[in-house]
Amino acid sequence: DCGQQWAIPSSLVRSTKHGVHRGMSSVTIPPPACMLRPLEVPFRYLFGPGPSNVPPRILAAGGRPIIGHMHSEMFGIMNDIKKGIQYAFQTSNNMTLAMSGSGHTAMECAVFNIVEPGESVLVAINGIWGERVAEIAERMGAKVHTLFKTPGGHFTNAEIEQALAKYKPVLFFLTHGESSAGLVHPMDGVGDICHKYNCLLLVDSVASLGAAPLLMDQQNIDILYTGSQKALNAPPGTAPVSFSERACHKMFNRKTKPVSYLLDMTHLSNYWGNDGKPERIYHHTGPVSGFFALRESLAILAEMGLENSWSHHTEIAEYLWKGLEDLGLKLFIKDKDLRLPSVTTIAIPEGYDWKELLAYIMKHHRIEFTGGLGPSVGMVLRIGLMGYNCNKANAAMVLAALEDALKQCRKSKA
Ligand code: PMP
Repeated sequence: DCGQQWAIPSSLVRSTKHGVHRGMSSVTIPPPACMLRPLEVPFRYLFGPGPSNVPPRILAAGGRPIIGHMHSEMFGIMNDIKKGIQYAFQTSNNMTLAMSGSGHTAMECAVFNIVEPGESVLVAINGIWGERVAEIAERMGAKVHTLFKTPGGHFTNAEIEQALAKYKPVLFFLTHGESSAGLVHPMDGVGDICHKYNCLLLVDSVASLGAAPLLMDQQNIDILYTGSQKALNAPPGTAPVSFSERACHKMFNRKTKPVSYLLDMTHLSNYWGNDGKPERIYHHTGPVSGFFALRESLAILAEMGLENSWSHHTEIAEYLWKGLEDLGLKLFIKDKDLRLPSVTTIAIPEGYDWKELLAYIMKHHRIEFTGGLGPSVGMVLRIGLMGYNCNKANAAMVLAALEDALKQCRKSKA
């Protein structure tokens, strides 16, 4: 109840030489009662497609006292983050940084800076993320062309090449880990084809980074971004991104300014010390605590090693997939090699109401799974075991919760 009656405390009633006067008489909206109660946050097992649970070490890093966003020590921490991202992305790109914002911020940053109004863009849509990028590109005035598959589908290099030849885009977008469908897209050769057609390759790795192999430089990816809250296990709110030399050449030789001031890479590259200028000039106040946490999450990945992280996610995912099949559930992505190790999709079991299953599991097991997203709504249930959450004990907990829910919610709508 936030509408509680409110009386001005007598301590705020001041007397002046002009007589008794209500010091805060201009305030007409009372402090809401809910704000006078302590914050309550329930414990949840975040076994959906993100965010994932944040390990104590990363929480503690984010809880360190903040310093100024322009302090030299902060620039040192940002330099560390840049190195951590270069490792996680496997790139030596100088133009590597973290966006102040979620994965969408990086998505918009990439499109806004690379594309000018009227230019042709090709977007591969096989789930919600292509849809989003197509809309973002359309909003800033690009000529958007799409390659389309229903969720779970993927594109052959021949299909991609054909579309590049036809539409001659300046940018091609592909999602590496399609979290709405649970698909990891093959990347080999895609970068080479794009370059053959003088097109930049933009890849979304929000759901796959650290969980499935991806090598930015070796795979000729021009722009790669991810999010903090999935396999990296940092809180949501920061988003690593990197631009190749070719991408920099295009974005720093534009005729028009990007539509967003906040996401303008001319400013951001200076903020991150990437533009070679001796001085960093204030652009915006970055999320200092978010950067501390991101640094810690990148440190954990560096300590573990990328290859170990990839094989660990695969091993746990395979254990989960086998357990799901033993429960009689059908995995949505049939081909094992195309399954995203971080986010597993299962076909909604016949005769069940998927919302009821999710609600039951949340209520009785404190576990979050989710339904589909965008075009996959009503098709799948999604289970994510990423980074810190990715272990056999959690996979066993997932299976036990599902087994229980399948017993309790059976054909209740039949
Ligand atoms: N791309 C993919 C593949 C994602 O899974 C997500 C988040 N679910 C996003 C982009 C968007 O990230 P955010 O919610 O952090 O903006």
